[in-house]
Order: sequence, then structure tokens, then C-alpha cells
Amino acid sequence: RAKESGRNAVALFDPQMQSVLRERDALERDLRQALQRREFALHLQPQVDQDGRVCAAEALLRWQHPERGNVPPLNFIRLAEECGLIVPLGDWVLEQVCTWLARCATAGRPLHMAVNVSVRQFREPNFLARVEQILRQSGADPLHLTLEVTESLLIDDAEASVDIMSALAKLGVRFSIDDFGIGYSSLSYLRRLPLREIKIDKSFVQDIVDNADDAALVQTMLSMAKHLRLTVVAEGVETQAQRDLLCQWGCQRLQGYLIDRPSDGALWVERWLAASVAAPP
Ligand code: C2E
Ligand code: MG
Ligand code: MG
Ligand code: MG
Repeated sequence: RAKESGRNAVALFDPQMQSVLRERDALERDLRQALQRREFALHLQPQVDQDGRVCAAEALLRWQHPERGNVPPLNFIRLAEECGLIVPLGDWVLEQVCTWLARCATAGRPLHMAVNVSVRQFREPNFLARVEQILRQSGADPLHLTLEVTESLLIDDAEASVDIMSALAKLGVRFSIDDFGIGYSSLSYLRRLPLREIKIDKSFVQDIVDNADDAALVQTMLSMAKHLRLTVVAEGVETQAQRDLLCQWGCQRLQGYLIDRPSDGALWVERWLAASVAAPP
């Protein structure tokens, strides 16, 4: 096939490239079996408000490979997108989260959860129908679900994205722009989309204490979000100094290792239900 001969043509000239491609094929083969073999797990990482109260938890996918150990999401999510596996995988994540949401609400401890949705998944023709179906089957309240999307969703075919987002927003689902600030799209989309929230990328948060430019950027994002009535979550908060500055600048929500690391989702939910999720100072 053309794809294979293309690969061989490259490999002929570059043995290093050949091993990279072979490695990729091996990983893709394993990835295809990983769902059936139940090698995926979901971690949860809480977000807190300025008083340290938990207001939401973000679901983060983990792949425990039998030989390779923990494969970081950044290494397998792109691959899963390229081979289409992100669609069943994304469904699995959503089902798991919606089951937890329903469980928390039923137990009288309702909570928000956020799910990362990749462009490839969002662009599937039946994405909207799948989300609706999973919400219905799980009994989760759409009001408790946030979908995190990235600016890349809006680079091409923004109109189609607007329609799908609007339909879900009408059900009560919230949308958040993840990794805000690192994309290249125009800011005008912020007015046109049914957005509730932006998440300031951790690369900006990292240096706000020492770098005046980053501090200015983050303050600008906060002020813009305020004018647009968007909630702001700061990602990657690792130090008390960062937390203090962000709170002083009016950032409503914080997420990061300072508050809590991502940890096993099922256990985290049990702790939440037992009302023993540690509330940081
Ligand atoms: P993201 O959605 O921006 O998630 C935040 C990432 O920052 C997570 O990395 C999280 O573990 C990490 N993080 C949290 N607090 C801190 C901190 O204080 N410092 C630092 N340095 N990092 C922190 P993770 O879990 O490796 O996930 C990486 C990316 O993979 C996510 O970035 C998201 O884009 C993607 N991803 C994860 N789970 C899913 C999923 O279920 N579906 C899709 N489509 N993508 C996912
Ligand atoms: Mg995210
Ligand atoms: Mg992010
Ligand atoms: Mg990020």
C-alpha cells in the first residue's frame, strides 16, 4: 500500500527513522488492545476556589502498559487521535465520569467534573448524539459536566463547532477553553462561543512570580475574562506565592500540585463521598 511503501522509502534512507516508525507501530498495536485489556485508568485532580473549597475535578487519562509501565498521555493521546482510537477511548472516559457524577449527586454530594475532549473526537459526526446518550444512560446531570476543548478546535470549521457546542450548552453542559493562550486563533471566538470558562495554561502560571511579562499576560487574561464574564481556572499552580498572586488578581479557581496531584479517580470519589477530601488552607 502507498502508506507502507512511503514508510519503507523513508526507512531506506534513515535507519533511525525506521526504528521510530517501528516503535510507533508497536505502540499503536498495543493501544488498540489496551481498552479491552482494561489498561486505562482515570485520575481525578481537584480544582478549588479562593477559599480552598473543592468546586470541580478534572479527569485525566492514564495508560498502564504491561511492560512499559505508565505511558504519559501526551505520548499516547496523539497516537490515539491519529488512529481514531480516541473516539472509543473518549466515550469510555465520558461514561466513567458521568457514572461518577450520577453517583455523587445521588449520594447528596454533587460535584462538577471536567473531561478533556480532543478535536478529532469533537469532529466525529455523532459526537453530540454520543454525549447526549451517555448523559441519559448514566443519569448524570448535564449541569455537572464541563467539556474542556482547545483553541485548535476553532481554527478551521469554527461554525460547525459553534453549532455542536450550542446544542450541548442548551442541555446545560459547560465549555472551557483549555491551555488558553498558547493557541493561535483569534480572540473573537470568545464572543461567539457558548463558553463558561478559560483555563490559563500552566506555562504562563509557572513564572508569574519572577517574570513581569508573564505576570502582565496573566493579569490581562484575567481582566479580559472578567469583562466577558468567564470563570478562570489557573492550571499548574505549584507554589503558595503563585496562588497568592493569582488570588490577588481575582482568579476564581486554582488547580495544580500545590492543591492536589491527580490521583486514582475511584478512590478520590470515595473520599469525596466520605466528605474527607482534604481542604487545603
Ligand atoms: P491538560 O488537560 O492541560 O491537563 C493538565 C495537565 O497538567 C495534566 O497532565 C496534569 O497532570 C498536569 N498538572 C496538573 N497540575 C500540575 C502542576 O501543578 N504542575 C505541572 N507541571 N503539571 C500539572 P497529564 O495528566 O499528563 O495530561 C496531559 C494532557 O493530556 C492534558 O492536558 C490533556 O490535554 C490530555 N489528556 C489527559 N486526559 C485526557 C483525556 O481523557 N482525553 C483527551 N482527549 N485528552 C486528555
Ligand atoms: Mg484539561
Ligand atoms: Mg490544560
Ligand atoms: Mg495544558
